[in-house]
Amino acid sequence: MSEASIYEKLGISPAVRAFGEAVLAPLAQRFAAIDQMAEQNQYKVIHAMQQNRVSAACFAGTTGYGHDDLGRDTLERVYADCFHTEAALVRPHITCGTHALAVALSANLLPGDELLSPVGKPYDTLEEVIGIRPSACSLAEYGVTYRQVDLLPDGAFDYEGIRAAINEKTKLVTIQRSKGYQMRPSFSVAQIGELIAFVRSVKPGVTVMVDNCYGEFVEAQEPSDVGADMVVGSLIKNPGGGLAPIGGYICGTKACIDRCAYRLSAPGIGQDVGASLSNMTALYQGFFLAPTVVASALKGAIFAAKVYETLGFRVVPTGDESRHDVIQSIELGSPEGMVAFCHGIQAAAPVDSYVTPVPYPIPGYNSDVIMAAGAFVQGSSIELSADGPVREPYAVYYQGGLTWPHAKLGILMSLQKMADAGLLAGRGGF
Ligand SMILES: *Cc1c(COP(=O)(O)O)cnc(C)c1O
Repeated sequence: MSEASIYEKLGISPAVRAFGEAVLAPLAQRFAAIDQMAEQNQYKVIHAMQQNRVSAACFAGTTGYGHDDLGRDTLERVYADCFHTEAALVRPHITCGTHALAVALSANLLPGDELLSPVGKPYDTLEEVIGIRPSACSLAEYGVTYRQVDLLPDGAFDYEGIRAAINEKTKLVTIQRSKGYQMRPSFSVAQIGELIAFVRSVKPGVTVMVDNCYGEFVEAQEPSDVGADMVVGSLIKNPGGGLAPIGGYICGTKACIDRCAYRLSAPGIGQDVGASLSNMTALYQGFFLAPTVVASALKGAIFAAKVYETLGFRVVPTGDESRHDVIQSIELGSPEGMVAFCHGIQAAAPVDSYVTPVPYPIPGYNSDVIMAAGAFVQGSSIELSADGPVREPYAVYYQGGLTWPHAKLGILMSLQKMADAGLLAGRGGF
């Protein structure tokens, strides 16, 4: 079978394919740098596994209380070593990223304390956790107040505003690394380090948490290397490497992690319970694969940016900017554009390729959301996926791809569906 025929069988027209190859040609050097980063992070993970004597015994799960669960306890030390923290809480009982963040926040904030976000509005699902949108069991209901300092119009930190917002009640500062569902830039680890240093210069004892979702292994350092007391994320994103079927992590100081463990299970019990059942192999193997999976996702994100900016759409970040997470946002400008794009991502999937994504309401989000994902792990967004709230500016957030060839196919297919729907008229000859 010739190469061209498999593209055609998959539904990619020669015109779309040729356009994609032309966009791809100048990216070789950029991709080589990404492979270099993957190598560094791969070795960091292997070293942490070697130091902690990971063995086949770690893959045997426990049941019941899960006392002395070797696999779970060793994995937590592997994560702690990799992120250079004193302690880590990494387990399937943390159900998702929002849960991990909710545990980290509620464990380390008491009634009368104030939470500060110096980087603008946090991720949608945290609005109810914090109580920005009223919810039962929110931090607000427990007497924790919240303050937010928006970014300056150019995306920079508003240092004077942050200084003014910090007061005697400020207990915990939350910094979201990734843009989430916003068109703002994602922050580099170095930028996060500068912000942490500033916050500590104003109030030395303040606890700093970084929402690290989608950022893991994009750079050689993590926010825990630049002063964060806790870094938090989901195992069905970067660090799960596509294999973890569930889970979240919190890595940080022993003082913070002990409290998180008490909040997750029960005061006095903490990390000692929590049977891993039969999940351990996937959590280890996924962490092992994560650096190269992140590299594939980054290549896809850059390719997507280049393709769509060449066609005249606004993309964040641009195809040439440095990357601090695996998210690519593309402003398609209309609900139809979002639907066609997501249709293409879905049509390129190995699983559920025949279904058509449609916008629908999801708990935790305040507008309809469209999601495209044909994933082996349901809802996994380190697998090739695209989603976004259907509201102005009609931006899709594209992310993931366990392999680069799959990411490439997804983007070509999105382009094909956009062209088929007549949404590229006058933009590149389709
Ligand atoms: C995905 C995400 C979350 C929430 O994670 P879920 O696993 O979807 O609950 C929080 N913050 C950011 C920046 C995210 O990208």
